[in-house]
Amino acid sequence: WKQQLDGMQAYKPGKPIEEVQREYGLKEVIKLASNENPFGCSPKVTAYLQNNAVNHALYPDGYAQNLRTAVANFLGVKETQLLFGNGSDDIIAIITRALLYPGVNTVMADPSFSQYWHNAEIEGAEVRKIPCMEGAHDLDAMAAAIDEQTSIVWVCSPNNPTGVVIPDTDLRAFLAKVPNDVLVVLDEAYIEYVTHPGHKDTLPLINEYPNVLLLRTFSKAYGLASFRVGYAIGQPDVIAKLDPVRAPFNNTILSQAVAAIALSDQDYIQACRDANEKGKKQYIEFCEKHNLKYFPTDTNFIFFNINADSDVVFQELMKRGFIVRSGKALGLPGFIRVTIGTESQNEALLNHLESVLKEQG
Ligand code: PMP
Repeated sequence: WKQQLDGMQAYKPGKPIEEVQREYGLKEVIKLASNENPFGCSPKVTAYLQNNAVNHALYPDGYAQNLRTAVANFLGVKETQLLFGNGSDDIIAIITRALLYPGVNTVMADPSFSQYWHNAEIEGAEVRKIPCMEGAHDLDAMAAAIDEQTSIVWVCSPNNPTGVVIPDTDLRAFLAKVPNDVLVVLDEAYIEYVTHPGHKDTLPLINEYPNVLLLRTFSKAYGLASFRVGYAIGQPDVIAKLDPVRAPFNNTILSQAVAAIALSDQDYIQACRDANEKGKKQYIEFCEKHNLKYFPTDTNFIFFNINADSDVVFQELMKRGFIVRSGKALGLPGFIRVTIGTESQNEALLNHLESVLKEQG
């Protein structure tokens, strides 16, 4: 066994709904813990699934040709600039496996998405976690942490769990400082929700800085988390280096089909984005009314300080049928992270939260 596996824990996701129903004897449980789309996926996907049979005895297309063409056309990139994964989790593992080993290091923000350091530790690489400032990446400190042994820098924008996006000027100033033999992974799992006026299209960055790799997913705004489709966009030579590390057939026939259909329904994505903006306002009003500090969010979740033990509040909300994420597990105790739900889900959660916080004094 690799020594670093001693005592290592598997990824702990938000609690499944069925488990909470069983534990607390609840009929209805609302999960606002994993930043899924509360409206589900495009109705075009649902119609496809109802009306099309697939031969599950056959292996899927390992190159995901139809989906590849659809994404390449949508983005205006070459097909050879794309790498598909079983969720972007898979891509993170592929990148890590390709580049990290004992003796090299990798730089990331803290708190940020746990899979960056988790995968790096499995490979025995040194992890350099650079504390966020007010929920934002400290890009100067991250650039300063890069040395000759640095292989990958992870930049999560908007950042999970804080929700903060990096404006274009800051991102470019950072990229200009990174040596071109260091891979910069720009994880944009929540990009469809970004409304910050300082944010610009990030696609041109891969031409200006060929060491940049963008990471996107169908799990969030596209509402297809259970199908596990994520992808990387980069220069063809970077993609060609990563492709041999990928497991064969890492997306199913169905997942390739539904991702392409979901992508074609941009009206649906726009509607979800609009609803998310309204939902965000419900939380921001609540935080301002109760004087709770929150980070400005460009995502479908919000991270705010409840000025109480976040594990206790998490438990109390669960008893009432709501699953959220306690900041304790995410590196900021006292905070909770809540997925923006439908208007009525948000209203119900905030009413319960108000009474829980009153009880907690
Ligand atoms: N990156 C970020 C920032 C995330 O929040 C998540 C999901 N929690 C992922 C990547 C992985 O998403 P998926 O594997 O479903 O594409």
